[in-house]
Amino acid sequence: MTNGGKIVMEDQACLLCGSARVAVRQNSLGDVEEGLPGEYTIGQCAECELVFLARRPCGASLPECYGDSYHAVAARRYRGFSGVLYDLRYYFRYRQLQAWFPKGSLRILEIGCGDAKLLLAMEKALGDRAELLGLDYAVAAIALPANSKIKLIQGDIQTAPIEGKFDVILMFDVLEHLADPVGCLTRIRRGLKAGGLLIGQVPNWNSLWRRVFPRCWSGLQVPRHMSFFTPATLRKTLAKGGFDNVRLKPVFDPGDLSVSLCNWLVRRRRWPGKPRGLKIYIPLTLAAAPVVALQNMLGDSGAIFFVAKLPS
Ligand SMILES: [Zn+2]
Repeated sequence: MTNGGKIVMEDQACLLCGSARVAVRQNSLGDVEEGLPGEYTIGQCAECELVFLARRPCGASLPECYGDSYHAVAARRYRGFSGVLYDLRYYFRYRQLQAWFPKGSLRILEIGCGDAKLLLAMEKALGDRAELLGLDYAVAAIALPANSKIKLIQGDIQTAPIEGKFDVILMFDVLEHLADPVGCLTRIRRGLKAGGLLIGQVPNWNSLWRRVFPRCWSGLQVPRHMSFFTPATLRKTLAKGGFDNVRLKPVFDPGDLSVSLCNWLVRRRRWPGKPRGLKIYIPLTLAAAPVVALQNMLGDSGAIFFVAKLPS
C-alpha cells in the first residue's frame, strides 16, 4: 500500500527461515545515498543468523524506493574518464566470468542487466557462440547497437515470461535487493539446464569498511538492500534455493571504501549533493585501490563473488 507516494513500513520475519526471533543490530538508519525519508532497522535472525532489513517498506511501496537518480539507473550517464573506468569495470567482470563458462555454445541470462554493459562486453567477446538475454525493470531505456542480437525482457524473475533453459544465469548485485531471495533462487534453479551455473555477487556484511563506517557503509543502501550476507549466510541462502555446490571468492572492489567515505562526507560532514555525484568520488576510488588490495590480501573483501553449479 502506498499512501500518495509515501512509503508504508512493515515488520519482517527472517527472509531465510521465517523465524520471528530477531535481534536488532542497527536502528534509526537513514537512506544516505538517495535521501529517501524514513528510518530503517537492520536485525539478525536468532535461528539462522541472516542479517536483514527487519523494518522495511511493504511490497507495494518498494517501487517508491527506486527513483531515476538511483545509481544503477544513473550509471549510463557516465562520460569521459569516469565512462572509461565504468567500461573497464565490465570488461574485468567479463574476464572474471570467462574462466567459469563451459565450452561450446552458451545460452546466458543476466538478471538485473542494468544498462546491458556486461551483456555487450560478452557479445563482443563470445560472438555467435552465445545467445544472450537480459532481464530488468526498465529495459525500454536501454539503447543497444543496431547489429546487437541481445534480447531484453522487462520485469522480474518471478513473473517475467522467460522461455527455455540456460547454461548460465548471472545476478550481480541483485540477491540483496530481493524481498523473497529463496523463492527467486528456486525459480532460477528451474531455469537452469543440468550442470548449469548461477554466478553473481553480493556485498559482504563482514567487510572491514562496514565496521569503520557503521551507518555509511556502501553495502547498507537501506531500504533497497533487504539482506546483508556473510559468506556463511550466503551459502545457507543458496542451499535453501537448491544450490548445494557453491564456490565463494573475495572481490576487489575499491568502490566499497570510496562510496562509504562519500556517504560519510554527505551524512556526517554535510557535503551537498549525492555521495556518488561528488567530484571527489572517482579520485577517491582510484586512491582506495591500493588500500583495498591490501585488505583483500589480508583475507577481507567488500563483496562476495559466488558460483553455484547444479549437478550434471
Ligand atoms: Zn532465520
